[in-house]
Amino acid sequence: MSVAPVPASEIDAFDHEVDVLVVGFGCAGAAAAHAAATAGASVTVLERASGAGGSSAQSGGELYLGGGTTVQRACGFEDDADNMFAYLSAALGPHVDEEKLRLYCEGSVEHFEWFRACGVTFEESLYDAPTWMPPTTDGLMWLGENAWPYNELARAVPRGHRPATEGWAGHTLMTSLVDAATAAGAGIHTDTRAKSLVVDEDGAVCGVVARRFGNDVTYRARGGVVLTTGGFVDNEAMLEHHAPTLLGHGKISDGLDDGSGIAMAAVLGAATRRMDVVEAAYTALPAMVCRGMLVNGHGARFINEDVYPGLWSHAALTQPGPCWVVLDEEGLESVPERDLMGVRPTHAAETVEELEVDLALPEGALAATIAAYNRHAAQRADPLFHKDPRWLRPLVGPFAAVDPRLGFFAAGRPSAGAGSGFAGFTLGGLHTCPDGRVQSVDGTPIPGLFAAGRASSGMHGHGYISGTSLGDGTFFGRRAGRSAAFSGG
Ligand SMILES: Cc1cc2nc3c(=O)[nH]c(=O)nc-3n(C[C@H](O)[C@H](O)[C@H](O)COP(=O)(O)OP(=O)(O)OC[C@H]3O[C@@H](n4cnc5c(N)ncnc54)[C@H](O)[C@@H]3O)c2cc1C
Repeated sequence: MSVAPVPASEIDAFDHEVDVLVVGFGCAGAAAAHAAATAGASVTVLERASGAGGSSAQSGGELYLGGGTTVQRACGFEDDADNMFAYLSAALGPHVDEEKLRLYCEGSVEHFEWFRACGVTFEESLYDAPTWMPPTTDGLMWLGENAWPYNELARAVPRGHRPATEGWAGHTLMTSLVDAATAAGAGIHTDTRAKSLVVDEDGAVCGVVARRFGNDVTYRARGGVVLTTGGFVDNEAMLEHHAPTLLGHGKISDGLDDGSGIAMAAVLGAATRRMDVVEAAYTALPAMVCRGMLVNGHGARFINEDVYPGLWSHAALTQPGPCWVVLDEEGLESVPERDLMGVRPTHAAETVEELEVDLALPEGALAATIAAYNRHAAQRADPLFHKDPRWLRPLVGPFAAVDPRLGFFAAGRPSAGAGSGFAGFTLGGLHTCPDGRVQSVDGTPIPGLFAAGRASSGMHGHGYISGTSLGDGTFFGRRAGRSAAFSGG
């Protein structure tokens, strides 16, 4: 399907006309639609699926928020925007978008209150254990802030905010956001796939041509078009061009992240940024990893196992593989049943030498790693990677190992590792300024065109922390929706 722009002069009469047209009804689209409608604009959201939600509805619903929210304060934590910025600029870096990140941190408490005003509820309790996804309804979780080296760069404060839902909470979050956007007046046209932007004689974007049940449908947008179509992990050609790191790995998406919004804007001369930046998750369990160790194919540790799991995942992606989770019987038995997510060891051995053979590791390598680890752990020290003493204890046989390539996400979730153990999504996209205007390759904004969420490049540098995708998608989605509402008509 061609994504080439259509001149407005070729359209005799538009089928629909609104102030703001939002393309894609995930979290960024919901936020943009809500903001534009609240600002008094007439808004229609086009959604290619048969209902709103996108990847956002399939997500964990974790929101990275801080700076002193009521949940943080109720749990006994003091935070401020500078402290939050210090952590995120390190953890999302290198090369964060400092302007966006600063705005995000300074606006975080207000943004948290916006979620609450949209109907999202958060319990005022902390889930205080390493995990991808708390199995409880606790409203707050750690996302690596208390692990080295980050605990030396910023005061350790938890900022993972979660809607009050056990486990995956994306659907709870999106139900509230979609209801809030529609209550504010936004309309939705489902089964409607935008295929091209419409451009007037001055080069301004003024509408969209979409396909609905085999027919073209034309939309005029007086104020602007906001592209919130998600990322491009489901588009193999785009991955090959821009983010080959994820080729051959699983996809963390709803299956519709084909980069269509990015492509529609790129043919108009839109600039893109950070297209190679990806989130990659290794399907190992944090509760196991922190009680033992993660070793590479040389039998060596390579990171402190208590960092945010996305960070050990990224480190694992570049290791000589495969990487293994190794722990001892005492460690395994101390993992609470609720944190096991059904995962059982794939290998068990009385001695480390036997385990080395089973895992096809170089002779003596794992034995040397465990001996060094144990020598320091006996003093509750980890001079190599500074793992928190809470997780340090000499490991003694019998030993167990888990092969993360087998995956663990619950059935029905998007592909978990696809045999490689890794699954990911893309973080790069259209280059936008903080008010959501899409920049052209010559550095000027393209009139009438806005973007947010994973269709755009947000505040991320080369790192990712859970909650920052839904977080920046909604935060900058609101800004884009507001800008489009005030930009004309
Ligand atoms: C299993 C899983 C767990 C995750 N957990 C978290 C988490 O806890 N915290 C976090 O921050 N992030 C998480 N993520 C990532 C996060 O969900 C996504 O990065 C984020 O939802 C992207 O939001 P978006 O609004 O940009 O895109 P989406 O939510 O994907 O919305 C895009 C929408 O646009 C529609 N669309 C696409 N193209 C067109 C077109 N041409 N015309 C019309 N409609 C179109 C799509 O159908 C879709 O509905 C998770 C993702 C998954 C899949």
